[in-house]
Amino acid sequence: MTLSPLSSPVETVDESHRLHLGAIATPERLLLGPGPSNAHPTVLEALSRPPLGHLDPLYLELMTEVQEMLRYVWQTDNRITIPVSGTGSAAMEATIANVIEAGDTVVVGVIGYFGLRLVDMCSRYGAVVHTIESPSWGEAISLEAIAEALETHRPALLALVHAETSTGVCQPLDGVGELCRQHDCLLLLDTVTSLGAVPLRLDAWGVDLAYSCSQKGLSCPPGLGPFTMGPRAEAKLDRRQGKVPNWYLDMSGLKSYWGKERTYHHTAPVNMNFGLREALRLLCDEGLGQAWARHRRNSERLWAGMESLGLELHVARELRLPTLTTVRIPEGVDGRAFALHLLNSHGVEIGGGLGALAGKVWRVGLMGYNSTPENVDRLLNLLADELPAFRSGAAAA
Ligand SMILES: *Cc1c(COP(=O)(O)O)cnc(C)c1O
Repeated sequence: MTLSPLSSPVETVDESHRLHLGAIATPERLLLGPGPSNAHPTVLEALSRPPLGHLDPLYLELMTEVQEMLRYVWQTDNRITIPVSGTGSAAMEATIANVIEAGDTVVVGVIGYFGLRLVDMCSRYGAVVHTIESPSWGEAISLEAIAEALETHRPALLALVHAETSTGVCQPLDGVGELCRQHDCLLLLDTVTSLGAVPLRLDAWGVDLAYSCSQKGLSCPPGLGPFTMGPRAEAKLDRRQGKVPNWYLDMSGLKSYWGKERTYHHTAPVNMNFGLREALRLLCDEGLGQAWARHRRNSERLWAGMESLGLELHVARELRLPTLTTVRIPEGVDGRAFALHLLNSHGVEIGGGLGALAGKVWRVGLMGYNSTPENVDRLLNLLADELPAFRSGAAAA
């Protein structure tokens, strides 16, 4: 009997889930919410390059470049500085999974929603978690409160959120690194909404562990979570009694792929790393100090414009984040309906409140590629033109 593939019968297939769609056609949006923000056009080009093998010498070279540029944007010399495959939360989990052992005491600063996520993650890894809370969502934690918590609980690790995206607060860090060293405690910092946009100096500040994401200040789509760990954190990883209880995020394996050995761990999302390389290249081209200043300038333009429209900013000026502004929803306005109107009729996304601020504020992001005076003015014009109809309680047409 001869087999002819051309005349093979078509196998019977259950067709009930088969769709007949046109090619993907997503609209242009201006993403001025809490993230993701728009990606730079050349980052999108980099993403669409044909993939390379994840052990191709050219790709290995690109990995080294990404690591070096991450050290620059974080202002650190940390050897283990890599983009974790996954979003910011994966990198967040990596910091905790690698250094926390069941029974370790941890203090978490909670100034908003992402502090609560850190509490959840630390407790899942068996830590004994104590929290320090800001007086309200919209304020920071004082150095005195941190000192008192370290004194009382003697933790192995203090975790803080530098840029709390749920409230728009930038947590001051003056003196925190020194306190942690005095108490022989590791300092972990969430820099998801500060990396590349808000002044950040990991080594000078004595930060031992930090993580971020690709889709906020770095002008790249979501998919990678920059991660870094310093010598004190590495020493805690080396001292562990047992294995890191998360295979995928275990730095003892990942550091060989990202180090000299180049041992296979998991298939790197190579195209995401092409995109991140381009995003970091753009940031190096601009200069980190210039990027920080640009974010500051554009946020001040936004704040002044909002105030001149009679809107009230939620956070005191000295604690405000340049990347994320919380503005109070005026009396009588349906905040959700207004945000939906901006999205559906004008292609502009802004965010609503999270947790304690749900229904009380809008969250406006000016991150990375999106932090421009043109984008600020576009939003201010929309607020000026479209908000009055909502103030009277009238719904959009
Ligand atoms: C966005 C964000 C995260 C989570 O990052 P994902 O990329 O959504 O997983 C964590 N912390 C802060 C402060 C954030 O703003």
